Amino acid sequence: MSETIFAKIIRGELEADIVHEDEHCIAFRDINPQAPTHVLIIPRKQITSIEALEDGDAMTVGHLFCVARDLARSLGVAESGYRLVINNGVAAGQTVFHLHVHLLAGRNLNWPPG
Ligand code: AMP
Repeated sequence: MSETIFAKIIRGELEADIVHEDEHCIAFRDINPQAPTHVLIIPRKQITSIEALEDGDAMTVGHLFCVARDLARSLGVAESGYRLVINNGVAAGQTVFHLHVHLLAGRNLNWPPG
């Protein structure tokens, strides 16, 4: 499994605007934000994508969503609405092959997404 830029952020070798850290995950602001609030929540474990998930990863992935919920509250966007996105595979727009949940908020989010 080849290493990604996110592995360097996890190890502290690459700077990021970190908004949350715990034993299982870290969250930081997206370098190319697609909304006024755009945070990425990633597991410390190197998991390539949703497709690569093992059943044993269920707790870790559930934790990412609980952290997203808490961040939406602490960043003040829970009331106004937010969207969580996971792109799986190149055709779906995945560019970094380390699982990540996008937390997007602060503007009208259209549906269906592009
Ligand atoms: P995806 O296209 O779903 O794989 O999302 C990857 C995201 O990572 C994109 O929104 C990028 O802007 C973001 N990204 C790439 N490199 C960095 C970085 N060094 N720091 C923060 N976000 C990054």
